Amino acid sequence: METKGTRIGVVVRVRPLLSKELKANSLNNRIDINLAEKSITILSDQKQQKRFEFDEVFDEKTTQEHLYQKLKLDNLIKKVIEGYNATIFAYGPTGSGKTYTMEGYEHDKSMKPIIRDDGRLGLIPRIVKNLFDEIKKAPSHIEYTVYCTYVQIYKENIYDLLNPAQIKPPGLRLRWNQQEEFYVENLFMHPCYSANEVISHYNSGLKNRIISSHNANTSSSRSHSLLSLNIEAMDSETGSILTSKLQLVDLAGSEKVSQTGNEGAALKESIEINKALFTLRQVISTLASMRDGEASFVPYRDSKLTSLLKQSIGGNSYCLMIACIAPLDSFFEDNLSTLTYATKALCISNEPIRNIDPKTRVIKELRKEVKRLNSELLLA
Ligand code: ADP
Ligand code: MG
Repeated sequence: METKGTRIGVVVRVRPLLSKELKANSLNNRIDINLAEKSITILSDQKQQKRFEFDEVFDEKTTQEHLYQKLKLDNLIKKVIEGYNATIFAYGPTGSGKTYTMEGYEHDKSMKPIIRDDGRLGLIPRIVKNLFDEIKKAPSHIEYTVYCTYVQIYKENIYDLLNPAQIKPPGLRLRWNQQEEFYVENLFMHPCYSANEVISHYNSGLKNRIISSHNANTSSSRSHSLLSLNIEAMDSETGSILTSKLQLVDLAGSEKVSQTGNEGAALKESIEINKALFTLRQVISTLASMRDGEASFVPYRDSKLTSLLKQSIGGNSYCLMIACIAPLDSFFEDNLSTLTYATKALCISNEPIRNIDPKTRVIKELRKEVKRLNSELLLA
């Protein structure tokens, strides 16, 4: 997705009815999609309707390949290779297609991913493959290393899905670095030199995500997962180093707590899980209502998730939000809420900056100074 200026790109994907839903004759008459206008109208009853417009709208016929192409993710990958940070996150209620969109795998009984290259692959495996294809095209004096990390946030605990010793409470701590960014302390960072290496770490992380969810006695759709591809480009000719980060985020289901019918411990769990999403919505609302140049308190620090997404939403990254909804009456309230926040996100501006290693910057400035002094000498 090419963001207009530096605004967050916001698209909506409506998933198809599943065969069991078709059999159950689930109603499907409350969403009206207009692809040409990039709009969705939600019909609340025969008379009332609410219309939303986005950067792009994808209907139930959209294939994974079409989605990837239409979002122009190859352009985003090029930006990341040039040293910009980028984030793609999927938002929406449980069962709306977030994991299908991001991951697209099916799993066998032992939760091993079944990877069929039959067009069902989601954005993550496609992005990983194309990132390395792009890296291969770079000049030979630039050496790339992709460090991959994969974390899960569940009830405000952060687990390292690439480190089996760190997939149970209390999890890892958040720290604050000099670039004014939050990071996860002691996180495993695996250097990878091919798409297959990343995918193999990602797959073991997916298995750990399931084990971790079993440990916590919950479903993985109740946790947030963040796969991060940290790219380091060393230029042997100039000695410069560029670093950038591509974050691929599959959020927990954003459904309303009241609708899950939970009580007691389960209700407490829902509230804690929703703390991150509640804060995310607050962050989105605050940023969306801020006028140009206005300073306002944005509650990033109120949850681990929003702390980690600080630079992605209202920060220095490119960002794409994929709002997922399902064409079922039971999703009606959650679809409305999802589209409402997606609309707010359309008003958020980021200021992407190219990450140059501070040492590289100094070297560049010194070189400039030497050039200037040389020309002064020649003139004298
Ligand atoms: P979420 O991650 O939002 O909870 P899932 O991605 O698990 O939802 O999707 C719920 C179900 O719908 C899964 O069985 C998934 O395979 C199916 N599904 C979701 N999106 C699509 C799609 N675009 N095409 C076909 N099946 C889909
Ligand atoms: Mg999911």
